[in-house]
Amino acid sequence: MERMSFTQEIEKRRTFGIISHPDAGKTTLTEKLLLFGGAIQEAGAVKNNKIKKTATSDFMEIERQRGISVATSVLAFYYKDKKINILDTPGHKDIAEDTFRTLTAVDSVIVVIDVAKGVEEQTEKLVEVCRMRHIPMIVFINKLDREGKDAFDLLDEVESKLKLTVTPLSFPLGMGHDFKGIYNIYERNINLFTAESKTKISEGQAFEDLHSRELETLIGDSHATQLREELDLVSGVYPPFDRDAYLEGELQPVFFGSALNNFGVRELLDCFIAIAPSPRPKSAEERLVRPDEPDMTGFVFKIHANMDPKHRDRLAFLKIVSGTFKRNTPYLHIRLNKKLKFSSPNAFFGDKKQIVDTSYPGDIVGLHDTGNFKIGDTLTEGELLHYKGIPSFSPEHFRYINNADPMKSKQLAKGIDQLMDEGVAQLFTLDLNGRKVIGTVGALQYEVIQYRLEHEYGAKCTYEPFPVHKACWVATEDEKSEEYLDFLRVKQKYMAKDKKGQTVFLADSHFSLEMARQKYPSVKFHFTCLLYTSDAADEGVEVEVGGGGGWVLGGGGGGGGGGGGGGG
Ligand code: GDP
Repeated sequence: MERMSFTQEIEKRRTFGIISHPDAGKTTLTEKLLLFGGAIQEAGAVKNNKIKKTATSDFMEIERQRGISVATSVLAFYYKDKKINILDTPGHKDIAEDTFRTLTAVDSVIVVIDVAKGVEEQTEKLVEVCRMRHIPMIVFINKLDREGKDAFDLLDEVESKLKLTVTPLSFPLGMGHDFKGIYNIYERNINLFTAESKTKISEGQAFEDLHSRELETLIGDSHATQLREELDLVSGVYPPFDRDAYLEGELQPVFFGSALNNFGVRELLDCFIAIAPSPRPKSAEERLVRPDEPDMTGFVFKIHANMDPKHRDRLAFLKIVSGTFKRNTPYLHIRLNKKLKFSSPNAFFGDKKQIVDTSYPGDIVGLHDTGNFKIGDTLTEGELLHYKGIPSFSPEHFRYINNADPMKSKQLAKGIDQLMDEGVAQLFTLDLNGRKVIGTVGALQYEVIQYRLEHEYGAKCTYEPFPVHKACWVATEDEKSEEYLDFLRVKQKYMAKDKKGQTVFLADSHFSLEMARQKYPSVKFHFTCLLYTSDAADEGVEVEVGGGGGWVLGGGGGGGGGGGGGGG
């Protein structure tokens, strides 16, 4: 009996993330999804957690944003007897690393695309990671109430830029001022856009036979003709929906709608709960772990520091992979080889946290932590397992960090150590003189680090410029070879160790990297590495210099991703 309900609990969970370029409508869509679940009562409850560029010097703003981002890290709600866990994937360019790591904890994703802007830079990067990991994806084309690109052109763009194989499961009737509604291919019904759509959830009107003259009565002659033609084209050009292909990450269904107007969202959600996977098996280095195994296993994918400096504890987010997680039960922390139990594990409902006794695979629990956890840590009931991490990417910005208060060097070291464990930035120590270099994805992080070191650890730091183009993790077959030793000698000024002690070449320019590659062919340079696992496991997503098409390289020069600039 209990066994039965355990598998049912697993089956009804849908843990996913929404990914998009900033401003495509992720926050708005999240909010509408929560409204469907009755988890929040009104719009505006989900705060936009983007750190605005203009806020760089406003530290209260940074604090406020951090508070919001802990509140929205996980948003859970029930809808039609499914338990839905939305994991927030921070949308700003400055915190992209965090987003990548969250993708280790989702079972599927929804990709939001702005109908007018089409596929944008950040979407490309995030989808690439999902594609490599075979994560099932549904695409939602948003803002249909605005003039945008032609639906077929957009589908083409999604296929070519995101390298996906799409099949529309809904199709818009017109667009912009002429937007009439949606034909739901998946359910075979029509939902007309009216002034009431925003406030009422409309189930749509069943419409099986598109050749019936009723279509004319419903949407007018020209729209009826156009819809028939377009749907003919859809069935002629795109493969039929195949759930297995979707689950394998080989086929991506597409929905159209307008999140702001709450239109097309029900169609998306109903299809999502029907087709999206419940918690999936996950690979540990040792073996594949199935969710319905009785023993609890899970891994930490995110750590969030407490907002209140008086309480130095942090919240570690654990994704449960198998078994049931119980309060006050000892679990083995693999990396520390230590049993830990948790008296107040937090679960998330709507936008609130509460203490729970039991959680199931697919759920996220927030564990209060005083410094035991790092991203990538595994908890089990005793079995030695190490869940595989997601690669970390080379930072885009680099600066020396100096101690500005000699009396507080211990505090500084501890602060840096913990902030790096949280994944705020990456630390490199130069081989030559032991100086410390902080690498970040966005420049704003330097101010956040300085502020937090001072307010949470009582330490002061200053920065100094350190011109680095890319951090390249170095690998060689033979560490004793003449060539490798020569490389280390010639480049000693640029050699460093990352936090795990791995050798890194901090190339000062694209040119010097290319030269090094030519001169030392036996030395391999990688732009990604697994920082957040207990062991250095290889997941085979490393990108080599000049390896063609590696987006980590950006446009070949400028850093920050060639197509940057168009931020938001
Ligand atoms: P995020 O950065 O992806 O989280 O995007 P937001 O949800 O904050 O949306 C960015 C802007 O687009 C906001 O001003 C929204 O009101 C607006 N927006 C979102 N969805 C729609 C839509 O369907 N139609 C229109 N016209 N605007 C939308």
